[in-house]
Amino acid sequence: MESRIVYMDNNATTRMADEVKQILKETEDLYGNGSSMHSLGRNAREAIEWARGEVAVLLGAKPDEIFFNSGATEGNNTVFNTFRDLIDEGGKRNRILLSSVEHPASIESAKYMIGKGYKVETVPVDSSGRLDLDALEKMMGDDVALLSVMVGNNESGAIEPVKEASAIARRYGSYVHADATQAIGKIPVDVNDLDVDYLTLSAHKFYGPKGVGAIYIRTGVPRMPFLHGGHQEEGLRAGTYNTQAIAGLGKAAELARKSVDDERKYLWGLRTMLKEGIAESIPDVVFNGSDEYEKELPGTLNVSFPGAEGESILLYLDLEGIEVSTGSACASGSLEPSYVLLASGLDVELAHGSIRFSLGRYNDEDDVKYVLEKLPPIISRIRAMSTRRI
Ligand code: PMP
Repeated sequence: MESRIVYMDNNATTRMADEVKQILKETEDLYGNGSSMHSLGRNAREAIEWARGEVAVLLGAKPDEIFFNSGATEGNNTVFNTFRDLIDEGGKRNRILLSSVEHPASIESAKYMIGKGYKVETVPVDSSGRLDLDALEKMMGDDVALLSVMVGNNESGAIEPVKEASAIARRYGSYVHADATQAIGKIPVDVNDLDVDYLTLSAHKFYGPKGVGAIYIRTGVPRMPFLHGGHQEEGLRAGTYNTQAIAGLGKAAELARKSVDDERKYLWGLRTMLKEGIAESIPDVVFNGSDEYEKELPGTLNVSFPGAEGESILLYLDLEGIEVSTGSACASGSLEPSYVLLASGLDVELAHGSIRFSLGRYNDEDDVKYVLEKLPPIISRIRAMSTRRI
């Protein structure tokens, strides 16, 4: 029996690139401690500094503005913790703004702070999931210390107007953080073009290893130790270097820089084929997010199928070897409708029936054809069984 896996959950994580696997092999014997002064230590350090350079070039940053960490969850927590410390120290600016569709790594950091009495507020988004700049302007003030906005949304695929939001924040003297975790490798991301002070990312979203990432911190902006201990990363992030993983991140960054323009077009082509195929073969579907090339991550297609539960669709697709997600992986396991889609004004039933296809470098037209063959009968079957449908 033919068994086929079509992986369309690349926003959850990606398969490692062959080039990344190769560098993991090449660096497996670099067991010296990257902080040691002897040859083995220096060899490891060389690989680490090469990777730092690659991440810096990718982002248009300077190498000494890049700090390695375990990924964007840590990075986003670091940014919120830094501003909590600044407020605790009596900083005059004591308000933080973030978009209502940020990843849980930011939203939960914000909730934690709110629970402790800090002033943290969410800025609404429009129906395509993009930040409402008028609302931001109204909420901004001279008391805002930080604005945090993601570059691309993991669920809807919306590309956020970070540059425009930053221009507003700058007029009030606020610092700006961008969570670029979903954007790296899919669209160009440059810290100076976006005009941000902090930027966070995870290697595994762009074909690198899991559990490693980086935070960009602009020279001269506030920074606090993320982990106390040894003197690694200028004393900000203590802990012995994970040389191999960092080298893997460096290689993934190099590949992302070289392939981003072609990959954006390629993924947009596959997304368009998938979207048109679904629109032609399944009645009554609602596409979430935006349909403009400049406003949507190229590989993300979020679709609601009224009258069909997202979880049922996911499980039936899985039986056919098609791997997708409902809402975000971080929210799965709970049957709560996606807060990201609700924030964009989608009603609860549509949010419940939403599926996120996230295409990646290793998908091709045959994968899309396969999905278009298997999906329509699954939706009909679920709709026929659904008690919600009249
Ligand atoms: N931010 C965004 C936008 C994400 O999509 C993710 C991963 N789903 C994260 C942050 C957290 O990344 P990690 O789980 O690698 O720490």
